[in-house]
Amino acid sequence: MSSSWEDMYKSTPPWDIGKPQPAFTRLVSDGELRKGRALDVGCGTGENALFLAQNGYLVTGVDLASPAIQTAKAKARERNVNVDFQVANALSLDFEDGYFDNVIDSGLFHTFSDEDRPVFVGEVARVLAKEGNYFMLCFSEKEPTNWGGPRRVTEWEIRATFSQLFRINYVKEEFFATRIHEKGGRAYLTSATKLS
Ligand code: SAH
Repeated sequence: MSSSWEDMYKSTPPWDIGKPQPAFTRLVSDGELRKGRALDVGCGTGENALFLAQNGYLVTGVDLASPAIQTAKAKARERNVNVDFQVANALSLDFEDGYFDNVIDSGLFHTFSDEDRPVFVGEVARVLAKEGNYFMLCFSEKEPTNWGGPRRVTEWEIRATFSQLFRINYVKEEFFATRIHEKGGRAYLTSATKLS
């Protein structure tokens, strides 16, 4: 599994746009992320994590693909930004319960199988503090499938998968910026708060 993700980074993958996702920069400018610690799950080469760190958050980024983490670490050094980048599996995270105030997910959830989805939701809930927030960007069923890409996710699936452990604040239509779309792919941005 991790080796196939590592293979994706042998060239520049379509999601690796060299800048943060506009959906996440807006979350910061709108003040939706709580001050404090943030975890970027499936952080890739780190643009969203680096952006949060530059905006005052204490950031950890994890990804299964070690080439992606190496690139992310190099960017952090070059830009003189402090992010704790680690090779790790989001399905079994090595952080204490309640450690993070926010978890962000740019294109990870939509890669999981039906079996892995509840495992992931459990891990995100576990590492989030009371009232901690999860923000997720995933492709929606409105995005055409003719170019391939990851699973498309419906609003119903998001609600069904997260609502046992989270209050869903919103599931909004958004765009997922990629290297192969002019205006981005059709996506959902979800905001969810861990239930206490
Ligand atoms: N968030 C990044 C990358 C999105 S692509 C961005 O927006 O650019 C999905 C990423 O999730 C890939 O980098 C892949 O290596 C990583 N990934 C896939 N399964 C994972 C898992 N179980 N744990 C951690 N990372 C995973």
